[in-house]
Amino acid sequence: MQIKDNHGRPINYLRLAVTDRCNLRCFYCMPEEGINFLPKPHLLNFEEMVRMVSLMAEMGISKVRITGGEPFVRKDMMSLLKSIKNIKGIEQLNITTNGVLTAALVPDLKSLGISSVNLSLDTLDRDRFKEMTRRDELQAVLNTLDGLLENGIKTKINAVVMAGKNDQDILPLVHLTKDKPISVRFIEEMPFNGSGINKEAFMSHTSIIAKIKEAYPSLTKLEDEPNSTSYNYSINGHQGSIGVIAAFSRTFCGSCNRIRVTPTGTLKTCLYDDGVMNIRDLLRSEKNDQIIKEKLLHAFTHRAKDGFEAEANRSAEVTESMTTIGG
Ligand code: SAM
Ligand code: SF4
Repeated sequence: MQIKDNHGRPINYLRLAVTDRCNLRCFYCMPEEGINFLPKPHLLNFEEMVRMVSLMAEMGISKVRITGGEPFVRKDMMSLLKSIKNIKGIEQLNITTNGVLTAALVPDLKSLGISSVNLSLDTLDRDRFKEMTRRDELQAVLNTLDGLLENGIKTKINAVVMAGKNDQDILPLVHLTKDKPISVRFIEEMPFNGSGINKEAFMSHTSIIAKIKEAYPSLTKLEDEPNSTSYNYSINGHQGSIGVIAAFSRTFCGSCNRIRVTPTGTLKTCLYDDGVMNIRDLLRSEKNDQIIKEKLLHAFTHRAKDGFEAEANRSAEVTESMTTIGG
């Protein structure tokens, strides 16, 4: 069974945020202090997550990305990953991590057969890393990167780029692709930081590419995979590739195949909506799986056309942090 939404787009990809907690404080994602993390009973427990993913797999979800907050601050994450990997119909299991606690777990991720890891890394400079994440953890992240490559795990680096903050890191990050088989993807900043977008710092995907092209004239557009959120490029003589994600410009909505579930079980059928239903409450009150699937089907077939429509339909302006949504 493959569900299509009301715009004819197949829905086959779930991004599941397993916690709102994090061991970094990236300034574009959350404030330094005063964060009220959710009490544990508010979060979906592992059993609820596995039941939900199993039902969604029966409806055509075949790819799951675990995200957060930082997934590895949630206790016993490997056991959740194993359970999700074993769900019939789940063909790809990916994870997005900041890499601080991940290095020691890389061999387990390899044996589990994780499909790929997205590692967030905005700079290779220790001081700037400290400034941007408010923690001194660059070395731990680099150890994770080395471990992923040594274990042959498909790896992408995600870097949020902002003018005057880390635009000087674009070229050093691009340089990583010379000898490493990784994809380095630059992401436009979105307003999910608790206080709205800092327009002065915003860099569009086109200006990021222009900057790379200036230094690497051989930058060549690659054919993008279907449903790709990134525009991808190669550079002559580089093992890896480059990508840009127009996360704020929202140029990829036409082929969007993804839904999101937040740590409290709110279903989002677009990153920019403010939640279309609460699955946690349904899982807790409803024993009949068929009824849950019918409600999910209703949500999947009433999606906004794109991120602009979803934002316009919100009951309030964007104030949430990415850590409560699952980036
Ligand atoms: N903690 C993990 C990590 O950082 O990889 C997973 C969760 S994090 C919210 C997922 C992704 O969202 C990261 O790649 C991060 O850079 C990105 N992100 C967070 N806030 C963002 C924002 N305001 N604009 C664009 N991307 C953002
Ligand atoms: Fe934590 Fe990831 Fe947000 Fe950074 S981007 S504060 S690592 S959840």
